[in-house]
Amino acid sequence: MSLITITDLRKHYISGDETVEALRGVDLAIEAGEFVTIMGQSGSGKSTLLSVLGGMNHPTAGTVEMAGVKLYELPGERLADFRAENLGFVFQSFHLIQYLTALENVMLPLAITGMKKADKVEAAREALERVGLAGKADRLPNQLSGGEQERVAIARAIVKKPPILLADEPTGNLDTKTSEEVMTLFRRLNDEGQTVVMVTHNPDNSTYADRTIHLRDGLIIDESAAAVTTRSAA
Ligand code: ADP
Ligand code: MG
Repeated sequence: MSLITITDLRKHYISGDETVEALRGVDLAIEAGEFVTIMGQSGSGKSTLLSVLGGMNHPTAGTVEMAGVKLYELPGERLADFRAENLGFVFQSFHLIQYLTALENVMLPLAITGMKKADKVEAAREALERVGLAGKADRLPNQLSGGEQERVAIARAIVKKPPILLADEPTGNLDTKTSEEVMTLFRRLNDEGQTVVMVTHNPDNSTYADRTIHLRDGLIIDESAAAVTTRSAA
């Protein structure tokens, strides 16, 4: 069985008297250990797909099954627990707390666990080491470069060792070189066993992935058709 199985997923947003069909029947299976990128033009439904997949956005119809659990059949509180145990999130704007050090930011997801302070510090240090920031644990976000802040956000997402890492345009604000460093880091985490699902609009990022899903107007389009489109556009 796949780690993640999405079946006939639909998401409609109502704004005013207009209905936006952001997802119009998406089927997708992701295996444990895969690195999948989701591509598509702005407005094609990428962020919606990732947030529904991540248990943060109730679908209008369809199911998301993760490790054998149908996410949206869980009561709200259990869904939050399931998310906390199984998913790490990385966003384009890092959402780091400016008055906390890198180490303290990485410790945040451990706040509500029963761990002892010393164990939290150790787990956070280990996560920072995995992203190559062991030496900068005591810096504040504004004392770090954009790429380093992104890596702190990644460390925070992996500190609880979630089996699945979700990222929405994590390199969107980074220059090419920094972006490549961050993608290399995601690739390494994936090689170490982390399942990664990443939204991106940058075709270069997809070269790091095992598989690329192309969305258009809320539907997955045929991958070979997408390749033709990409070639003719190039
Ligand atoms: P992408 O990430 O590919 O740019 P999104 O998933 O953000 O696409 O958006 C898909 C469509 O749904 C767009 O038309 C967008 O305007 C609409 N949309 C997204 N979020 C909302 C919302 N909270 N309310 C209303 N419409 C939304
Ligand atoms: Mg988006």
